[in-house]
Amino acid sequence: MSHSKREFILSLEGVNKEFDGFKAINDLNFYMDAGELRVIIGPNGAGKSTMMDIITGRTRPDTGKVEFGKDTDLTALNEYQINRLGIGRKFQTPSVYVDHTVFENLWLSLEGTRSVWSTLFSRITPAQRERIQEVLKTVGLVDRADVKAGSLAHGQKQWLEIGMLLAQNPRLLLVDEPAAGMTDEETAKTGELLVSLAGKHSVIVIEHDMVFVRQIARTVTVLHQGHVLCEGTVDQVQNNERVIEVYLGRKKKAEH
Ligand code: ADP
Ligand code: MG
Repeated sequence: MSHSKREFILSLEGVNKEFDGFKAINDLNFYMDAGELRVIIGPNGAGKSTMMDIITGRTRPDTGKVEFGKDTDLTALNEYQINRLGIGRKFQTPSVYVDHTVFENLWLSLEGTRSVWSTLFSRITPAQRERIQEVLKTVGLVDRADVKAGSLAHGQKQWLEIGMLLAQNPRLLLVDEPAAGMTDEETAKTGELLVSLAGKHSVIVIEHDMVFVRQIARTVTVLHQGHVLCEGTVDQVQNNERVIEVYLGRKKKAEH
């Protein structure tokens, strides 16, 4: 029997990216199953954001393979094309339309809809309304639907933005430090939300807050100097000698 290639939702193989001679991504190999919720941690400058940039087409790697599903080569596509394939990214700072309601923001984000004007001056279809209600429920903003996005609390804005991504039915969702600036209660709710999305979507979360990581993580990938240092459960990575060295800065002097 021949070995058929295992199908990952996302795989990076031998990826390299230099900035002015500095290796931000260094022979990076990363594999993720469909429906997985994967947490990526790593010290500042480890290459986490650059990795997201490479997946979403914002940065082109110097070498290496980046594949979505079995045979879609992401390195051949631009940011827009990659987004259209079903890869959504949430940046740290929320970018909602503050003068529009929560409902309108979600409406504007639905698949197929185009500009603010053409959307808000067209008639909403029952299917669109139903989809928006569904997303409102998922992100816990049903009772905020008619409130202007600008008046939402910080956590609620972040949930709205996750909702705006969900409205587009992404297959893969990339979320950069969702708990930053949140209260403990908001953080816990965000964790529940992300966990609830797994299975239906594949989710990559970049996070620093280890309490939060412990709440949501199944598999954690530790990135260091643009390379995967270690992968496993939260306990496994927290007890890993190399991870402890990197995080506590206990540098062993090289003996040569
Ligand atoms: P992280 O998100 O893990 O903190 P980054 O991916 O932002 O790390 O950065 C990794 C390294 O690459 C850093 O040393 C950073 O300064 C460098 N870097 C990232 N983007 C650029 C760029 N556009 N130009 C030059 N250097 C960059
Ligand atoms: Mg970063």
